[in-house]
Amino acid sequence: MELRLSERMNYLKASEIRELLKLTEQPDIISFAGGLPAPELFPIEQLKLISHKVLDVEGKNALQYGPTEGYTPLRKIIAEQRMKAVGVNVSFENILITNGSQQGLDFIGRVFLDKDDVVICESPSYLGAINAFRAYMPKFVEIPMDDDGMIVEELEKAIEKYPNAKFIYTIPDFQNPTGKTLSYERRVKMLQLAEKYNIPIVEDNPYGELRFEGEHIPTIKSMDKNGLVIYLGTFSKTFCPGLRLGWICAEIEMLNKFIIVKQGADLQSSSISQREAAFFMTTYSLEEHIEKIKAIYRKRRDLMIEMIKSEFPEEVKYTYPHGGLFTWVSLREDIDTAELLKTALLEKVAFVPGGSFFPNGGHPNHFRLNFSNMTEEKIVEGMKRLGKVLKEVYR
Ligand code: PMP
Repeated sequence: MELRLSERMNYLKASEIRELLKLTEQPDIISFAGGLPAPELFPIEQLKLISHKVLDVEGKNALQYGPTEGYTPLRKIIAEQRMKAVGVNVSFENILITNGSQQGLDFIGRVFLDKDDVVICESPSYLGAINAFRAYMPKFVEIPMDDDGMIVEELEKAIEKYPNAKFIYTIPDFQNPTGKTLSYERRVKMLQLAEKYNIPIVEDNPYGELRFEGEHIPTIKSMDKNGLVIYLGTFSKTFCPGLRLGWICAEIEMLNKFIIVKQGADLQSSSISQREAAFFMTTYSLEEHIEKIKAIYRKRRDLMIEMIKSEFPEEVKYTYPHGGLFTWVSLREDIDTAELLKTALLEKVAFVPGGSFFPNGGHPNHFRLNFSNMTEEKIVEGMKRLGKVLKEVYR
């Protein structure tokens, strides 16, 4: 049967790598591929009590439709706690609850992008954002990075070439996929450029609160005097992704556009999830929970880096993330990591080949490793397996 699909579906093809990565769900494979939090850290016992409490105290509302903007007490907690924690003073009226920040990314596409519009992003960038934007058929302009994140001189050149770019998309803290962090000076410069050319910045910050070491760098939103920054937050990495709760923080005029779009998408986020999160945060301390997560991830990061040093060929380059979930490994330019993944899977270990993080293709010689999801024992064993695969290609 001929499917009468939209033009956008030509841009949204299932990837071969996705098929390969399905294999990583087999129990004997040690996978550094996903971006998953450590499940043993989920506060299951507390949430059992909380879900009872939600139904006891607010059962009828928890099972009823609610406002598109979100459950007001949760919006207040986000404004007063999470946004404060990243240096931003806002009211709950600046917060729209979304189904994870992934939904925020899709909404940004809907609100800003027509076909062939320009999106400026880091090179490489988050695959899920690239795919969300791609549905709106934009042109991606990739800005190269170094150890301090997006190179702002290159950003300036790109903006001069594309002054009508719709927005700059950035993950300033412990970026997915590279683990790199945008320096303070560059944040200031990025904001100045955005102001000069009136281009919004989309600051996607799922990892900012997971810093293991080094000095906190202010969020771009915290320096934004003109309402140019649209900030995406999420509870996925600091609490639990299964609740599917994130938020957009923006100026009210801007936020109203997202509210209209959310009405068309799903009316609202789950009434029950929103109450569970809010009740959890008024009963327990999310800060304490985040401290526990950081202590474990830091150990896992240290171990993964140690294993890279001892097991990988010396020529292999890698990033040293000060927080977050990922490190990024760069191999000799002639090595295709999508091919390498096939060999790695035979050795029962997996990573994500780096090519798909570059919206315009190319760059086949990198891969992303996740250190949050596997136990220390598995990190040691998996990295030995991966080291063996790499030594083979470097021989
Ligand atoms: N942005 C970035 C940079 C991410 O890494 C992720 C998740 N891996 C998301 C957004 C989406 O997360 P969620 O929808 O669970 O909030």
